[in-house]
Amino acid sequence: MSSTDPRICIVGGGPAGVSLALWLHDLDLPFNWFDADGAVGGTLRRVGNPLPNYPGLPRRAGADLIPDLRSHLSEAGLPGPAKARLVAVDRLPSGLAITTAPADTEASVRTMALDAIALCTGTHPRMLGLPGEAELLGRGVEISVTRNRSRYAGQVCIVVGGGDAACEGALLLAELCPAVHLVHRGALRAQRRFVKAVESSRRIETHLADVTAILRSSDRLRGVELSDGGAISGGGLFVRIGVEAALPGRLPAGLVGADGYVLADSDGRTPVAGVYAAGDLVTATGQSVAWAVGSAARVAVAIQQDLGLRA
Ligand SMILES: Cc1cc2nc3c(=O)[nH]c(=O)nc-3n(C[C@H](O)[C@H](O)[C@H](O)COP(=O)(O)OP(=O)(O)OC[C@H]3O[C@@H](n4cnc5c(N)ncnc54)[C@H](O)[C@@H]3O)c2cc1C
Repeated sequence: MSSTDPRICIVGGGPAGVSLALWLHDLDLPFNWFDADGAVGGTLRRVGNPLPNYPGLPRRAGADLIPDLRSHLSEAGLPGPAKARLVAVDRLPSGLAITTAPADTEASVRTMALDAIALCTGTHPRMLGLPGEAELLGRGVEISVTRNRSRYAGQVCIVVGGGDAACEGALLLAELCPAVHLVHRGALRAQRRFVKAVESSRRIETHLADVTAILRSSDRLRGVELSDGGAISGGGLFVRIGVEAALPGRLPAGLVGADGYVLADSDGRTPVAGVYAAGDLVTATGQSVAWAVGSAARVAVAIQQDLGLRA
């Protein structure tokens, strides 16, 4: 990048970030790119089911798409994102500035002045917020079924939630576990194919209730208590109660809507000049790989237009 190049930065290495990187590269616009994990894939790492609704990939699991994303970048001569976490976006009299931290620390922050920043930070899982949950994370309490289910093979497991992630998780666990308890507070909201499979599984039992307490014996999960007065013993508790927008700690006023997601028009322009957003970060409904890659393509073109760089 030369000193006269526009200062463009992509944050996030999920499908939206990868799509934007490829589009900016194609438009001959240099950019910086980073992701908290320093890798591509984002939420796809947690998608163990095939993507029946993404054209061309009816039978491959979401996670299997990641090597293809890496090869596509490498064929284009693009390195993946650097490892850094966005902690703040500030609007200064001199323009935009972002602050990044190297890993899970606020120490050694770096500040960068920019002409355009594209937020593609997606979502992260919501947690129950019950005592013991954080302490037992990785020792009985889990988020990702795809990554961790093999450690719970042969054990009774509990899944909390009633959407796609919970139903898909219960089905994946039922392949390895003798009994899976699916605890949900209302009607199952998952795709029909998941609900049908859950209802016809002999290993999955559903409970219409809330989880009210996490039971532990020393440093391991023992089970949960339910709002209907019942309790379930189990070695694994998979929390699959939805997601929320992954927002950095400090953002300019007016960027985030009442639903907690970033406000953006159909070209990904936010109310803050120079700040763009694409992918799951801008919508609480209809989150998908297709939306992520398509909305990122619009952002690339909007950045090109706004910076007066149209070829
Ligand atoms: C169980 C499950 C099943 C699904 N099934 C389907 C399906 O069948 N079809 C479909 O189309 N979609 C499906 N999806 C949704 C799909 O995975 C998402 O829509 C897609 O991954 C969104 O892409 P994204 O790039 O917007 O965000 P993400 O993939 O969430 O990527 C965001 C990236 O931003 C990074 N990041 C976050 N915060 C920061 C920060 N502060 N600083 C730096 N980096 C940061 C993260 O590390 C991550 O890499 C499913 C999702 C789940 C969980």
